[in-house]
Amino acid sequence: MENYSKILGFNIYNNSISALINDEIQWNDKKVIVSGNPEVLYSGLNDKSLYHYFKSKNSIIVPDGIGTVILCRLKKKVLKEKIAGIEVLTSLLKICSEKNKKVYILGANKDILNEAVKNIACKFSGINICGYHDGYFQDTDKIINKINGCSPDLLVVALGCPKQEKFIYENFDKLNFNIAMGVGGSIDILGGKIKRAPKWMINIGLEWVYRVIKEPFRIKRLFVIPKFILRGLKEKENGRK
Ligand code: UDP
Repeated sequence: MENYSKILGFNIYNNSISALINDEIQWNDKKVIVSGNPEVLYSGLNDKSLYHYFKSKNSIIVPDGIGTVILCRLKKKVLKEKIAGIEVLTSLLKICSEKNKKVYILGANKDILNEAVKNIACKFSGINICGYHDGYFQDTDKIINKINGCSPDLLVVALGCPKQEKFIYENFDKLNFNIAMGVGGSIDILGGKIKRAPKWMINIGLEWVYRVIKEPFRIKRLFVIPKFILRGLKEKENGRK
């Protein structure tokens, strides 16, 4: 598959973010964009159904996170650049505002989500946010009905990993959308609750250090990075170990 490099059984998109947005993502095809950071991919390795979903033809996995980039480099796989989930999200929002596409946002807490919706509407003028709901709900079917009520072109799901991935894939056939994406803490960033790292830290792959300084509880989650890299290095080229 052109434009994809295989690691740990997953096809990782290996071209630039602009090629992804302009060429790879077709809005007439039901696709899920997966932020392929070590935490997300590791949860795929440990969950049979997620593994199957991540590998399905409906998924586009982007190399989000320095751990994924390091593993690709160590395994000498083609990879143009790291593609941060939040950058994919903002590029998609831009396209939605320019091409009058509908967006539904699900996730984060009510106050942050309200702020994020205001900020998105301000930053991407004319954007059609057809609906939104916070991420603390009990009745999944009711949420699915709300989403389907406006059939969004872009469904943004911010429930953290792996909850957001499970929500999208387990309800894939029931949900009406063109593109869906699990975006983790991106709504918290767009809602002004947390900041992204300074550009120089992002550029040298140290965004995760910044996140741990700001939110020390994330330290436990970082252990998945070396585990993921080691697992990838132990992998035999013609199959998973
Ligand atoms: N969240 C949610 N419902 C839940 C659990 C989490 O809406 O049941 C939201 C949470 O408020 C936050 C986002 O999911 O806005 C994900 O946060 P986290 O920082 O854990 O995601 P990461 O970026 O680490 O994947």
